[in-house]
Amino acid sequence: MTPIAPMSDQKPGNDAARAFLDYFCCPPECAPFRVAGNLPVKEGFFRFGPALCFGKTAAASCSTPAETLFDAFSTVETSAAGEVRLCFDPTQVVENLRRERYQVDRNRERLLRRLYYRIRSVLPSFVRQLLQRYVTRQRRESVFPAWPVDCSVEQIFETLMALAIPAAGEREIPFIWFWPDGNEAALMMTHDVEEKRGVEHCQMLMDLDESFGIKAAFQLIPQGRYQDFEEMAACIRARGFETNIHDLDHDGRLYEHAELFQQRARKINEYARKYGMTGFRAGSMHRNQDWFGMLDFQYEMSVPTVSHLEPQKGGCCTVTPYFVGGVLELPLTTIQDHGVFYILGERSIDLWKRQIEIISAHHGLISFIIHPDYIVHTRERGLYRELLEYISRLRQERNIWLAVPGDINRWWRERSQMRLVQAGAGWEIRGKGSERAQLAYAGIVDGRVSYRIADKRFKCSSEGLSAREKLS
Ligand SMILES: [Zn+2]
Repeated sequence: MTPIAPMSDQKPGNDAARAFLDYFCCPPECAPFRVAGNLPVKEGFFRFGPALCFGKTAAASCSTPAETLFDAFSTVETSAAGEVRLCFDPTQVVENLRRERYQVDRNRERLLRRLYYRIRSVLPSFVRQLLQRYVTRQRRESVFPAWPVDCSVEQIFETLMALAIPAAGEREIPFIWFWPDGNEAALMMTHDVEEKRGVEHCQMLMDLDESFGIKAAFQLIPQGRYQDFEEMAACIRARGFETNIHDLDHDGRLYEHAELFQQRARKINEYARKYGMTGFRAGSMHRNQDWFGMLDFQYEMSVPTVSHLEPQKGGCCTVTPYFVGGVLELPLTTIQDHGVFYILGERSIDLWKRQIEIISAHHGLISFIIHPDYIVHTRERGLYRELLEYISRLRQERNIWLAVPGDINRWWRERSQMRLVQAGAGWEIRGKGSERAQLAYAGIVDGRVSYRIADKRFKCSSEGLSAREKLS
């Protein structure tokens, strides 16, 4: 199977600036980045200001992220003509992080995981839990991706913006704000229905969500787990909630090998067509982003930002949606309910609150997975209710856009096609959906990149350059 080319490959122009332009949707002349020097064949880890990077660099790099890393920021040069020369290609580095290409031991890990799923059914649950805790502890001790949220991709863009502003000789650079109506961040609630027990609790969950004015997306397993897929989907949709496909039969083998994946993807696509579902999430957050082109969906939701608690390690190191070919990835940016309740044994929603703060500081997508199967008991349901209370308070006090994945997909696609056009002394946003778009400006305030939305008193201040310090 041939890996699909990233969607941005189709756009002409300066390759090094492409990811930056896709992220900010700013005029191309505001991204004067060039790769200086010859890049080696070998890829490695290095820093770029606060961000951890992986890729080819003309300067020094290391084979593991744990070492003291060279900061590529120190080699940046800006020419008299305003060209910013970098010792790496930021588009390539961002793609490496998003696509989890920094994992050098991927094959070994895949083999171990396959073995685990073969023997999983005969393992007593306490052995499975012990294994899970051991693996989690090991991963959380690793420095990369950063726990509990890794915003390396956003930090790279913010650092590039800090270089682009003086290079342009301007006080500010205009761009299309990330979310509609000037919202600070976006939030989506999703529910994966795992077993019959989950099916029985869907109505209760919808009642609970609705009591806080929240519409969520339910991911349903089409084969083998429960009988009434069609009936359930109709009932959930009738209440104004969204439905998507969750795996095929959720046996943990979807991505086991290319041939099996191709067979299953065909069936999954048939279900999607038949029931008009446009979003997909694999069982257990399994994924191989190089195969996403086989999935006939508009959006995919199986890539965690930091995958320390999931069976498959890694993480896309971003809290912002991104395209993988024609599929839009809406990453999972917070810890799943299962991780919070059972692996970490949390008694409060403090970890979720901390994650929300970090994600909204980078104006990202706050995404949750809560299973109807797991909020059956009082403690778990109580914590979820507390989270809903917190979210509805956030919505009132700050500008957070609460939306279903389908709406986020629509917006992000429209925004990617919008254009900033000079109109008189100012700028105008053109394109489908632009009536909800906001013109924003990036400037430097107290030595830091800061964003403001034009014609609005509401101001967003990016914490970009200091976010990593806040994490520790
Ligand atoms: Zn699942």
